[in-house]
Parts: sequence; C-alpha cells; structure tokens
Amino acid sequence: MNKWLFTGFLLISLYTPQEAPARPLKVFVSILPQKYFVEKIGGDLVDVAVMVEPGASPHIYEPKPKQMVALAKTHIYFAIGVPFETTWLKKIAGTNPNMLVVHTEENIEKIPMKGHHHEGRELEGDHHIIKDPHVWLSPPLVKIQARNILQAFLKVDPAHRSLYEENYNSFIQELVVLDAEIRAAFKSKDKKVEFMVFHPAWGYFAQAYGIEQVPIEIEGKQPKPAELQHLIQYARERGIKVIFAQPQFSWQAAQAIANSIDGQVVFVDPLAADWGNNLRQVAARFKSALK
Ligand code: ZN
Repeated sequence: MNKWLFTGFLLISLYTPQEAPARPLKVFVSILPQKYFVEKIGGDLVDVAVMVEPGASPHIYEPKPKQMVALAKTHIYFAIGVPFETTWLKKIAGTNPNMLVVHTEENIEKIPMKGHHHEGRELEGDHHIIKDPHVWLSPPLVKIQARNILQAFLKVDPAHRSLYEENYNSFIQELVVLDAEIRAAFKSKDKKVEFMVFHPAWGYFAQAYGIEQVPIEIEGKQPKPAELQHLIQYARERGIKVIFAQPQFSWQAAQAIANSIDGQVVFVDPLAADWGNNLRQVAARFKSALK
C-alpha cells in the first residue's frame, strides 16, 4: 500500500470512532478564583470563561445575553454554589443539553453563616439557616473542589487522562504548601485571633486556621444603628483597630466603625484572580492587623 494513503487511513480511523471535543475544551466557571483552579488542572487543554465579571457580586449577578449565547459552545460549566446560581443555574444548564454541569462544591460540608449578635440563634425574620457559600477561600476545601474538577475532565476528555492527573497532583502539592504556610503564620498566636470584616466571606478560612471572623453585615444586610453601636463597643473592648472590607460591596458601615474606633479600613478581596498569592497576602494582612 502507498505510504501516504496508509497515513490517510490511519488519521481517519483515529478521528472517527468517537467525537473528540474541539480543542481547546471550552469551559465556564462562576467566579474568578475557580478559573485559577480549573486552569491548574486543565492547563493548555482548556479555555476558561468566567461568568461573574470582575467587580461584580456573585450574590446578585445576572448573566449577560452574550454569555448565555457563549454557553451553547461550552463543554463544561463548573458551578460552585454561589447565590446567583440559585436563580440562574437551571437556565444556564438549559441553554445547552450537551454541556456537563459540575457542582464543584460537592462533598463539602457547609457551615451556617453567622451574624455577630445572632450566634446560636436563627436570623431575624428568617427561619432557614443560610449556608456559607465561600468555600473557595480555604485551601483544604479547594482540595475537594480540585478532585471534582479532575473527575469532570476525565469524564469529558478521557484521552488526556494522564495529563489531567499530572496537573492535578501538582496542584494538590501547591495546596499542601500554601496550607502549611498559612497554618504556620497563625500558629504562634497565643490568644484567639479575631478580625472584624464587613462581608463575612472568610468563615472557612477562619475555620481552617483557628481564627475568628466577626461579621459586620449579615449576608447582604447593613447593620442597623443600634447594631452598629454594639459593634463599635465590641471593637473598642477588644482593641480592634482594623476593619476589613472587600471591593465588591459598599463599605460605609466598615468606614463608620473604623472612624469611631480611630482605626482604618483595609481591603481584602475574596474574588481575586491570583488566588494563591491573594490568600497569602490576606493571611499577612489579618495577622498584622491583630498584633
Ligand atoms: Zn459573599
């Protein structure tokens, strides 16, 4: 047989048995930190789009029409259980029956969101307990998400199994190192470290490293004047000098408390793109504010 003809047959036979996904694999994630996780595992094999645009809040986001259109060409949607998904995930899944929708927060045990004066009690006028959605801010929980991301890639693109597994293993190593680093940073503290934050996004981070988050806001609700007074009193008693806030939310309440205690507002971003370095930086800021 002619050599070139043979090569031609071989190519055809390689491509026909299964419809291999077009390169690169198109995937969507809900929030920016997930892009970091998915790219670590998918490497050059994936092209990642982010639903919640920079500066927007994953609590109230509404997908743009062009994003809904882009979903038609998407292979995998990586959800994470942020509040906008409650309204939108069904519609997102409905745009493309061939798209795999992955709940990357699966197998994570969620903790209830606590308000400062509501500890041990239910939220006022609200009879269900709100589960904390901020699972991407704890390296131990990101390990679980990484596992779920890997499984999805193996399902959709089994031909590249060894590559995904290799990437996954390096990412887990990175997480182990980061986790040990942050753990060591808070270990030397002899008394319980408390930090006051406007939007309580750091519950899992605090849980992982044995520190305590004192929230100003309770999922979206500004403190009432009496509550604000109580928080100011609390901060004074504890010698708190720094109030943490994040760029995506209004932070006047944080500023008001900071002014009253002669302290300052420091920004920490739970949605930064450079996830690993951001967590390092946040840990350093929490620590230095608490000296
Ligand atoms: Zn949040």
